[in-house]
Amino acid sequence: MLLGIVAAGVCNAQTQQAAGNFGPSNPFYAPSTLAFHAPAFDKIKDSDYQAAIDAGMAEQLKEVDAIANNSAAPTFENTLVAMERSGQLYDRAWEAFNLVTAANTDPELEKIQDYEAPRTAALADAINLNTKLFARIKAIYDQRASLGLDAESLRLVEYSYQQFVKAGANLSDADKDKLKKLDEEESTLENTFMTKLLAATAAGAYSTADRNAVAGLSEGQIAAAAEEAKAHKQQGWVLPLQNTTQQPYLTFLSNRETRHAIFENSWNRAERGDANDTRATLARLAQLRAQKAALLGYPNYAAWDLTDQMAKTPEAAIHFLDALVPATTAKAAIEAKDIQELIDSQGGGFTVEAWDWEFYAEQVRKAKYDYDQSQVKPYFELNNVLEKGVFYAAHELYGLTFKERKDLPVWQADVRVFEVYDADGKPLALWYCDYFKRDNKNGGAWEDSLVGQSKLLGTLPVVYNVANFEKPAPGQPALLSFDDVTTMFHEFGHALHAMFADTKYPSLSGTAVPRDFVEFPSQFNEHWASNPAVFAHYARHYKTGEPMPAELAAKIVKAKTFNQGYDFTEVLAASELDLEWHTLPASAPLENPDTFEQQALERKHLAISYVPPRYRSSYFLHIWNEGYQAGYYAYTWSEMLDDDAYQWFEDHGGMTRANGDRFRHMVLSRGNTEDLQRMYDAWLGGEPTIEPLLKNRGLK
Ligand SMILES: [Zn+2]
Repeated sequence: MLLGIVAAGVCNAQTQQAAGNFGPSNPFYAPSTLAFHAPAFDKIKDSDYQAAIDAGMAEQLKEVDAIANNSAAPTFENTLVAMERSGQLYDRAWEAFNLVTAANTDPELEKIQDYEAPRTAALADAINLNTKLFARIKAIYDQRASLGLDAESLRLVEYSYQQFVKAGANLSDADKDKLKKLDEEESTLENTFMTKLLAATAAGAYSTADRNAVAGLSEGQIAAAAEEAKAHKQQGWVLPLQNTTQQPYLTFLSNRETRHAIFENSWNRAERGDANDTRATLARLAQLRAQKAALLGYPNYAAWDLTDQMAKTPEAAIHFLDALVPATTAKAAIEAKDIQELIDSQGGGFTVEAWDWEFYAEQVRKAKYDYDQSQVKPYFELNNVLEKGVFYAAHELYGLTFKERKDLPVWQADVRVFEVYDADGKPLALWYCDYFKRDNKNGGAWEDSLVGQSKLLGTLPVVYNVANFEKPAPGQPALLSFDDVTTMFHEFGHALHAMFADTKYPSLSGTAVPRDFVEFPSQFNEHWASNPAVFAHYARHYKTGEPMPAELAAKIVKAKTFNQGYDFTEVLAASELDLEWHTLPASAPLENPDTFEQQALERKHLAISYVPPRYRSSYFLHIWNEGYQAGYYAYTWSEMLDDDAYQWFEDHGGMTRANGDRFRHMVLSRGNTEDLQRMYDAWLGGEPTIEPLLKNRGLK
């Protein structure tokens, strides 16, 4: 409550200041009059964002305040529905701001971003810690069975209540104070961990003045290493560390001593007993999170954190991971045998160790799995892949059609917009794609919405995909790798999840689902990239229109199973470590990270000398700083779902409208409107199994 008042005060003061420059001339002042309420990017100036966001925050706080202080008794309509209607100005401005700061930023936008970051956190606190608001939601929750609510409305009551309780709304004032102190310490420790790890990783760079030590690297890599040395005012060559245990340079370095040294630098980077040692920090973090969970009434942190996930309990997630270990490690052992034979055949005279793996696996890859990128790329021309692949699959499965809209404004000249029509010809959504790499764009690829679907608000989805494909020279075609093709299908899968949303309440709509479910629709859509019928339809030479030769296509499919025993074992080891740390009870002593890690891996049959975990506890940034604690398993969980779902399609006639429509109706359109396990099981007619995942990774 205290925080709420403070935040409201800050915002009110800002509003008065902002009020002068926020009015009808601001493009966010009223909902956009363009099709689908698409933002008027031709009218929006950088300077419009801050005033609109600040006014939106003030408006939302006023709305929430009015709901919380309503003198009428709490009802579903005057509380939860009213909350769903609040914050529309803020959302309008924030979604567009969120897009441009990630995909097309500049110094002015970055400045506004720094200014708004703590204010958005304060806005969230002002709502989530509002005790009067929670009292109303609790009153509705307690009588929910007798309110005659439809299933989606009931889900909204239960979900909202759960989120408040998860944040500690049910605690006494004294316990809330304790929680606040633990939260503060947690956030300090998370920052400390990152600061130490950044320094440790930088200090872990390998450096040498001996040219023979870097034998095997390409001329370009050696030149880059020499540049790196210069930047550090050193002689010779410097190879920096990346965040994972394995290091990319190990693929090329023929000098075994160098490989060993780089591996040791990586493995022990944050365990040197110096100022950058992270072990004490993470041990306390694990203990503190267990204490936080105990305060909130849970036996451990994962039990608390997973309450709103599809898996629901750490036991379910652990059981799932454990079941994958035997087949995966057995495959890794076969790969190790292949590598050992290669070492022996070259007269190596040693047993394969972790620092040898990448070097020899690369030789196996070249001999058995390689294909020439320059040979395949002419068959993956971007427009072909988009229209004859991505759009085609969506048409065959769901009946969608697409029409480019040149009349709608975009945020950058390369961006394209399509109107998406349903099978019956009705407009369904607007979809933007921003595919080419730019200096002012974040790395990677992602999907998000500018307008979310909601029957309550009468809005249809406005969705976008962003990627970082190489931009061709003017007049030249954009030729993609198969990885890029997969990325297009992946991000479009997220887009379909958002575009098919058919829900009343914005909080439950589209991609607003738990992290162990959110990658399922996107990864599911990836499967269509290599579905033979879809592949044959789009993989055609951009000049001749000839289909890709079958041998070349087969190589692409086969390459996906290369080194999967190793790759998946290291992921499983990291996932298990995460859950081991986050199922410690509050009564556990401060752990010694090395002992704890070794014992956990042994217990899980994952203490394998040649396959160390992808991240060691002392440099596992995902779980100690990036919010993935108790959640690293989610990647693999989603993968189980998408492989299982694709197997269902294969078993039921494949790419048909009937199958697509059923999947859309029972899963893709439902957002978070019902329990996700029940939703999935109802669609499948049973529970998902791990067999398709093992098959797809070539582990069976
Ligand atoms: Zn994704």
